[in-house]
Amino acid sequence: MGVEAKLPPVLVTRLEKVVGWARKNSIWPATFGLACCALEMMAASASTYDIARFGAEVFRPSPRQSDLMIVAGTVTKKMAGMVERIYRQMPEPKWVIAYGACACSGGIFNTYNTVQGVDQFLPVDVYVPGCPPRPEQLLAAIIKLQDKIANEKFSDRPDTEGRLIA
Ligand code: SF4
Repeated sequence: MGVEAKLPPVLVTRLEKVVGWARKNSIWPATFGLACCALEMMAASASTYDIARFGAEVFRPSPRQSDLMIVAGTVTKKMAGMVERIYRQMPEPKWVIAYGACACSGGIFNTYNTVQGVDQFLPVDVYVPGCPPRPEQLLAAIIKLQDKIANEKFSDRPDTEGRLIA
């Protein structure tokens, strides 16, 4: 059990708020893109859109240093296992944004070899429609995710048994 298990409930609530505030302002996305949507994701980190304003500019080259997976592009069935493996390599707590029509629902590729939405094998937190979505939409998704993170309770993550750090 984590340290929060030894605290009275009122202190746990305050600790959750502090931890949520810290987590929402230091989201580190994993660096990877699958198709055309990835170019818009890259544009979001350029100076025009400046994702750094939301504390999410530190794209990490290793999943072990990341807590946000932005699935940007078409996911083929051949690639799905690799995407899932990267997700599993990320430490808890972690979040997923399905960025673009392909990641949300397969998009225009209603074919035998394309995954019809990454929520078939990943727990998606925010969906961003569009083909491709604009960088502003990624910023809006991050703001939405920040709201979610700020209001998360330790007990919302049963896979970590409510621990503060997995
Ligand atoms: S949603 Fe459109 S732009 Fe994005 S990966 Fe699919 S086809 Fe490309």
